Amino acid sequence: MAKQPILHCSFCGRSRDEVKILIAGQDGHICENCVEHAEEIIAQELGQAGETKTSGAPGKLTVRKPIEIKKFLDDYVIGQDDAKKILAVAVYNHYKRLNQKIDNDIEIEKSNIIMVGETGTGKTLLAKSIARMLNVPFAIVDATVFTEAGYVGEDVESMLTRLLQACNYDVPAAERGIVFIDEIDKVARKSDNPSITRDVSGEGVQQGLLKLLEGSEVLVPPQGGRKHPEQKLVKVNTQNILFICGGAFDGIDKIIARRVNTNAIGFNVNKELQDYQHNNLLQFINSVDLKNFGLIPELLGRLPVVTYLNPLDATVLRNILTEPKNSLIKQFVKLFDIEGIQLTFEPPVYDFMVQKALEYKLGARGLRSICESILTDAMFELPSQKLKSFEVTLEYAERKFSTSKLSMLKVA
Ligand code: ADP
Repeated sequence: MAKQPILHCSFCGRSRDEVKILIAGQDGHICENCVEHAEEIIAQELGQAGETKTSGAPGKLTVRKPIEIKKFLDDYVIGQDDAKKILAVAVYNHYKRLNQKIDNDIEIEKSNIIMVGETGTGKTLLAKSIARMLNVPFAIVDATVFTEAGYVGEDVESMLTRLLQACNYDVPAAERGIVFIDEIDKVARKSDNPSITRDVSGEGVQQGLLKLLEGSEVLVPPQGGRKHPEQKLVKVNTQNILFICGGAFDGIDKIIARRVNTNAIGFNVNKELQDYQHNNLLQFINSVDLKNFGLIPELLGRLPVVTYLNPLDATVLRNILTEPKNSLIKQFVKLFDIEGIQLTFEPPVYDFMVQKALEYKLGARGLRSICESILTDAMFELPSQKLKSFEVTLEYAERKFSTSKLSMLKVA
């Protein structure tokens, strides 16, 4: 029998047994490596032609101007104008830097961001909305799950695993994504614990974050968790990844007060005045306060943009219910609409929901559970009835809420 000819890739010359896949064409073959390479070249060429490309090899991202970025955020996030403005500028500069031609003269540094604000005030929502606008991969990670290498917990590198997973392991796409690190305040160094014992969850993690934040090549375990020797690691360059950190930084108002020489805790200060000062103090926050709270200066140096979020009051909560593009009320109306039912609310119902959210200290996050507790019975029963419209009256809302599990929570 005649010997079969040994097939080769017509592009790189590798033989059949040196490659995994060899695709046959009319007069030749191509291997998987060359396909990948070709894809990169195409993406690069298209990128240079000015096309928006958000996955695959780096192309040019079309970034909106800061005013447009803020307008976009306005559609999803209520209030928080200062944070939006600062974020818009930081994001604009970050992606401008990314799109600029390599110039050896002046290197524009990364504008990683830190946001300070009570939980549920919209930090994650802001970061998420920016990623949505740019259409880049986005991952949310919790700083508290990380520990210093060698301890039980996850390596900081595994936050990049989430980013890789968010874009189906498309490394070039991940390399220009956004990582939101929540609860960064929880890895603060405890001031009353000068490292006699090793600070496993705190300073070690901050140290670990340094190289990721400043931009370097990092070996990432593709499945997350701890790195182990047999695992194949993926190399990710973090130079163009935007890191946005968020934290509540409980008690930082007193640190700011001390710095700006105001008294936030005097005996005679009434609650209202205290709240007023607290709300207003946060706007003066800077890196010095964060350092005094327990973040190490090296980390702060890599998070040059500092901004804050205001606590949510009744007016803001009321707007959150109805105003954003995908507000809770709009979502429920849509759900009923799909069922062929026109859902409407008596306006006082909104105020009732806000009042309950404030009473139970549930914040914006609680609005959803309150809506659910009022509407669950309707969502259960109405699909089997032939109703064309349904109005939620204040009496109905009060009745349904009072029989819900939520109402059994003790008001603090
Ligand atoms: P944080 O990250 O500050 O703890 P989130 O961004 O996760 O808070 O907010 C929790 C939820 O509350 C969001 O999903 C959103 O529905 C709502 N929310 C909070 N703040 C706002 C806001 N300013 N505008 C619109 N919705 C908000």
